Amino acid sequence: MTVTENYSFFDSVTRSFDKAARFTSWDPGILEQIKACNSVYKMKFPVRIGNNVEVIEAYRVQHSHHKTPCKGGIRFSMEVNQDEVMALAALMTYKCAIVNVPFGGGKGGIKIDPKKYTAFELEKITRRYTSELIKKNFIGPGTDVPAPDYGTGAREMAWILDTYVAMHPSEVDAAACVTGKPVSQGGVRGRTEATGLGVFYGIREVCNMPDRMAKLGLNTGIEGKTVVVQGLGNVGYHCAKYFREHGAKVIAIAEWEGAIYNCEGLNEEEVFQHRKAKGTILNFPKSKNLAVNTDALELECDILIPAALENVINGQNAPRVKAKIIGEAANGPLTPEADEIFIAKGILVVPDMYLNAGGVTVSYFEWLKNLSHVRYGRLEKRFTENMNKHIIGQIEELTGKDVDAKEKLFIEHGADEIDLVHSGLEETMVNATREIMEVWKSNPEIPDMRTAAYVSAINKVATSYAELGIFP
Ligand code: GLU
Repeated sequence: MTVTENYSFFDSVTRSFDKAARFTSWDPGILEQIKACNSVYKMKFPVRIGNNVEVIEAYRVQHSHHKTPCKGGIRFSMEVNQDEVMALAALMTYKCAIVNVPFGGGKGGIKIDPKKYTAFELEKITRRYTSELIKKNFIGPGTDVPAPDYGTGAREMAWILDTYVAMHPSEVDAAACVTGKPVSQGGVRGRTEATGLGVFYGIREVCNMPDRMAKLGLNTGIEGKTVVVQGLGNVGYHCAKYFREHGAKVIAIAEWEGAIYNCEGLNEEEVFQHRKAKGTILNFPKSKNLAVNTDALELECDILIPAALENVINGQNAPRVKAKIIGEAANGPLTPEADEIFIAKGILVVPDMYLNAGGVTVSYFEWLKNLSHVRYGRLEKRFTENMNKHIIGQIEELTGKDVDAKEKLFIEHGADEIDLVHSGLEETMVNATREIMEVWKSNPEIPDMRTAAYVSAINKVATSYAELGIFP
């Protein structure tokens, strides 16, 4: 069990839920049902690794079926255990509800250290896990749709798809059984950067709220803000990239082996290449080493982005955190003790369950693409371009002036898949941020944004149960 202070990760999600449930008026029985994990599948299976047979432990949890399919990533990590997968599946239910993605929450995990296996061995493990899911009807476009998570990516999703298709050769919608696939295998453009970009859109929206910024003593906007990113995996990398590209300074980046600091700002791509070449983030040119990665969490900065694993900020180190805004890019990086400390200190915590929802939002777009069997933009792109050209032609004719060549190109452009995915993601994150802030404002007793987010999620899931006629 992942024990934090003196309770598990799932308990900590439950605590946050209970804290929020007080601000709703739902029947206690409905709240019990929403909280409970509906199905937990724990499995063990053998895989031949070299000359030995290894018995692998793995899980898939379906937290809620108020909407189907269930949705959520699969992680490969030695920390995987039943409690963790249950907590992460529950977070998926609330996350999907907040961003209006019509799925129940799910999560999977295989207890392995992926670095210890060759690609061939990982493929065997992934395929065997998939066939276990198929046997128990725990995967399928309408039942349960996995995606990448910590330690997995597009490659693993392609293996899952191929195994599923091999066993369902005539299922026309088979590609929708998993998301986060390579684009060549039915994936959607924009899925790789989706979580990091979603974090950026969410924080940008918060930073554009003058009342919130005034309370924190900060100017509105992203420009010039100092940012610390913990974790240079896919999510951390893209967070750093979008903040830097929009004028923020990423003053520190942390990885498990240590952290680096430069008050002028770091370039994530250069840091990534350095780490690839040297095997460590440390000793990056013109930056200072911080021996322990957790030191980065305690740096003076405007925005702190924990983008690695759960429980990294807890009752012990929270009093030393000096950031003004904490954007939870990871799932569950703060414990409830840390939350209480930040409420008392007036630090704004932008909660995981909506802030990192960019991944599942774009997964939803991918799932829709697979079910519709057509790439986004394919039908309308040229039509829009022809129409725009015509309008520009009319403007030039009527005014007698030529539209600037660069502007012309920009206006004429019809939306590609990537444009539509980014725009759908931006719309989703901006709306979710505003919706949660409205809930928070509507009840001054609500202590923090996480509780407001939970209130919003509970109301949506409960309404949907009520509409199903399950509860009177
Ligand atoms: N693993 C990601 C998450 O925790 C994505 C889930 C998905 O796309 O289904 O949100």
